Amino acid sequence: LTAVRRLRVVGNNAFYLSRCASSVPTTKMFINNEFVESKTNKWIDLHNPATNEVVTKVPECTREELESAVAAARDAFPAWSRTTVLTRQQIMFRLQDLIKKNMKRLAANITEEQGKTLVDAEGDVLRGLQVVEHCCSITSLQLGETLPGIAKDMDTFTYRLPIGVTAGITPFNFPAMIPLWMFPMAVVCGNTSVMKPSERDPGATLILMELCREAGLPPGVVNVIHGRHDSVNFICDHPDIKAISFVGSDQAGQYIYERGSKSGKRVQSNMGAKNHGVVMPDANKESTLNSLVGAAFGAAGQRCMALSTAIFVGEAREWIPDLVEKARKLKVNAGHEPDADLGPLISPEAKKRVCELVQSGVDSGAELLLDGRSIKIKGYEKGNFVGPTILHHVNPKMKCYTEEIFGPVLLSMEADTLEDAIRIVNSNPYGNGTAIFTTNGATARKYTMECDVGQVGVNVPIPVPLPMFSFTGSRGSFRGDQHFYGKQGIQFYTQVKTVTQMWRGEDAVSHKPATTMPV
Ligand code: NAD
Repeated sequence: LTAVRRLRVVGNNAFYLSRCASSVPTTKMFINNEFVESKTNKWIDLHNPATNEVVTKVPECTREELESAVAAARDAFPAWSRTTVLTRQQIMFRLQDLIKKNMKRLAANITEEQGKTLVDAEGDVLRGLQVVEHCCSITSLQLGETLPGIAKDMDTFTYRLPIGVTAGITPFNFPAMIPLWMFPMAVVCGNTSVMKPSERDPGATLILMELCREAGLPPGVVNVIHGRHDSVNFICDHPDIKAISFVGSDQAGQYIYERGSKSGKRVQSNMGAKNHGVVMPDANKESTLNSLVGAAFGAAGQRCMALSTAIFVGEAREWIPDLVEKARKLKVNAGHEPDADLGPLISPEAKKRVCELVQSGVDSGAELLLDGRSIKIKGYEKGNFVGPTILHHVNPKMKCYTEEIFGPVLLSMEADTLEDAIRIVNSNPYGNGTAIFTTNGATARKYTMECDVGQVGVNVPIPVPLPMFSFTGSRGSFRGDQHFYGKQGIQFYTQVKTVTQMWRGEDAVSHKPATTMPV
């Protein structure tokens, strides 16, 4: 079965996977519009999280390979940055059409490499596709400003110009959406791009490269390298790379922000989270509990915007048993099985870490209302599955609260008043997202104004903004000053040139030098 399945996968994606039926196929790089086999002797096994079978081997690219990707991007920049904005727009139109047509294929690859359910994987692609759709408005988005008559016969205007070679470093949890937050925005502004996808699931990025080529992006405009720390250090230090977009863990994000900034680059760095859902007693009970369960356990909790902590205010605490029953009914299975509500975690190490954090909560006094740690899935006994797990009476000092769990675990807390709930939320160092569930407008308004979190939902559990806005996580969840996509994304990927010009007739020409500032 494994061999047959592997042949099918390689058959669909033969352009980026080596065609080798007897052994494990290797994942290629993408440089100058060609899929290139690495010459490295260091390979990273990529496992299907539902079975732990090796799907492909991902190279740790050699120094020469990394250099050749940056050289391709650098050499492509002069011509690409001078391409007309209408040409770049037309390529984006074609790319968005191709992504739509390849949605199922991308989703199948994501489920194979990352583990999430097929439907959720399509959502992963869709949310990235929306960024490409937004890029199609580049003719309005990249407009500068003008002010005529700034002085006599003098006008000032600005251009938003590309900055050069940009780089993107992405996490495992959204293999299509997060790369699509980066390279389409970069290239539509006239930059070139070098992407380093997560070594745990680079397949979707490579399928997207095939689509970019088909859409008409010239060679070198977007390239893909692979690897871990060495490749990341290379990106941070390379003088030809002008900007880095990073999404991932705190540890890597802070490091990349500091190292990249130190070598003079712009860096935008989206990092970890602890998102709270505040449940008021006046909320609509049924829809609130459904929202909480979906947002805590969907994608096995491996979303930076997962609602991982629920705060029940006042009498809302009486709903906790019903919440537990809803969570218990979720079906855990391999992502390609049609009945799966949630799939496996990315790796055995991730499962071990999640289980240990749950145990640390129990050991420090939390009450385990639902325990999914020992779940076994028939036919997928080797998978990294953890079922929905709920810890109640969690307090802010517990390790399960201070650390991001990134698994299907909901922490539950109680608060007497809205003010108490806001205090808990604002004392947490992260500021990625939060939601309040209420039917009272004044309560909702107070919460949205007083909570110190970058993205707030009112009866919306996962308030990720669409690309006409920006992804505005704050405090410990973000480093940098321009967020991903939307207006801020355009600002990140462009630099402003301000031109002041004077055109004056012969009769008004000045006949003596001015040695003072104009007064
Ligand atoms: P990760 O930090 O392990 O990996 C992200 C990228 O950084 C990968 O490409 C990896 O190769 C590289 N990397 C990993 N460790 C590194 C190190 N020490 N030095 C240099 N590079 C390193 O993250 P992950 O486990 O793939 O993703 C999960 C994390 O991403 C979670 O913390 C989640 O909250 C976060 N995330 C945040 C957002 C957001 O928008 N805030 C979105 C998605 C995921």
